[in-house]
Amino acid sequence: MSNNDVKSILGFDLMSLHSFSDISSLVEHALGSELLSFINDISIKTDENDADLYIVGGFVRDLLLGRPSMDFDLVIDGDAIRLSNELVSEFGGEVTIHRRFGTAKWYLSEELVSATGLNSLDLVSSRSESYDKPAQLPDVKPDSIKWDLQRRDFTVNTLAVNLSPGKFGELVDCWGGLEDLKTNLLQVLHSRSFIDDPTRMLRAVRLEQRLDFNITDDTVQLMVASLPLLDDVSGDRIRHEIEKILHEECPEAVLVRLQEIGVAGAIHSSMAYIVGEWLETKFALAREYSLLADIAPVYFGLWLYSLSIDESLSVCNRLQVSTKAEESLRQIGRVKSILSELDASANPSDVVRNLDDLSDIALDVLVVAVDSQDVRKNIEKFRNELRFIQPVTNGNDLLELGLMPGPDLGRILLRLKMAWLDGEISSKEEERVLVEALVAER
Ligand code: ATP
Repeated sequence: MSNNDVKSILGFDLMSLHSFSDISSLVEHALGSELLSFINDISIKTDENDADLYIVGGFVRDLLLGRPSMDFDLVIDGDAIRLSNELVSEFGGEVTIHRRFGTAKWYLSEELVSATGLNSLDLVSSRSESYDKPAQLPDVKPDSIKWDLQRRDFTVNTLAVNLSPGKFGELVDCWGGLEDLKTNLLQVLHSRSFIDDPTRMLRAVRLEQRLDFNITDDTVQLMVASLPLLDDVSGDRIRHEIEKILHEECPEAVLVRLQEIGVAGAIHSSMAYIVGEWLETKFALAREYSLLADIAPVYFGLWLYSLSIDESLSVCNRLQVSTKAEESLRQIGRVKSILSELDASANPSDVVRNLDDLSDIALDVLVVAVDSQDVRKNIEKFRNELRFIQPVTNGNDLLELGLMPGPDLGRILLRLKMAWLDGEISSKEEERVLVEALVAER
């Protein structure tokens, strides 16, 4: 049963909601009985501390939009650290504390892990933030739930639900999030938002495309005005946001929109003009043809495929990508420059010689990106068959035949492999005859 069905069974209509609406049945249904009873235990303890417990942010947004999500954040308008210590005393487990931020991570006991399906729970004290310098981390101080919600990136992420006894299920809407949710709008809460944190530009576009919302004109204008500030953001932080984008269901829509607004070009000038239609076609093909469990690195290679190798490496440098990812891009760049050697006239051994050192990521990118049918077929054949072909004879067998360790050994093994690949030999017996001939002619 989809969440939309559940909403209609529960008699829920987003358009009729307002702040303080009771959405307890929706929350109860989303959490399920085990999690609900666990949350109730926490909210009773919170209440004993004269504080309220809230579920905030993405969970509430997605709940109201009928998009089930189990990723929830809890906020306490009180002392989360004291609460976490009391919870550990009563229910077991362990806690790690970040006093500066007023947060605690509660690692649940085995019993609670199996009852709730959660390994740990973040408990956060409500707080407000102030930014001294653009693009730097903020100063924080304890504050009410209202000001905690005001720290959020977009209005639709400012919704909360009170989980406290007596107020369970009460919707909290302090910053216009509900109205924007009803009208599919994405906007920041104040005009300094992108100055405080320019990575919100990437978050805005990611969320807009995921939810099929529209970023308001005002917010787009604020973004455009803040584009130069991206220069002050570390490669690590930008890459982190790009990784999240590449894990979206349809990352190409986000990348194309980032380019349209100018964010991609502001991150690196080479990314200002990547052709959107090409990306859309190739990303869809990647979903069909990639063999990798995590397709994000393949998307990354495709995103940069049209750039020269120097441009790609310069983007890698800006984004501080891992040397492994950079190596895949180098391999892709090298193969791009010898594609004609992989056309229909290439022998299987030529194909293997040219592709043998390629990572799985580089192979998947090339299988999808290359436009020539013949070349693509050869790369796919290498990926799916040729690279697994090995002679029966191994190094030890050659030593037993009296060969000394050294380059001869490797040469003979390679020659055997090529002979298999090109059909010169096709049985164990034929391989044995060739081995004898090669050993004799040394
Ligand atoms: P996702 O579904 O991809 O996890 P999310 O909306 O749940 O997206 P998270 O990245 O998990 O977002 O962040 C949790 C909450 O923290 C968000 O709802 C958002 O309001 C807030 N948040 C995250 N990053 C920022 C930021 N850079 N500035 C302000 N608020 C942020």
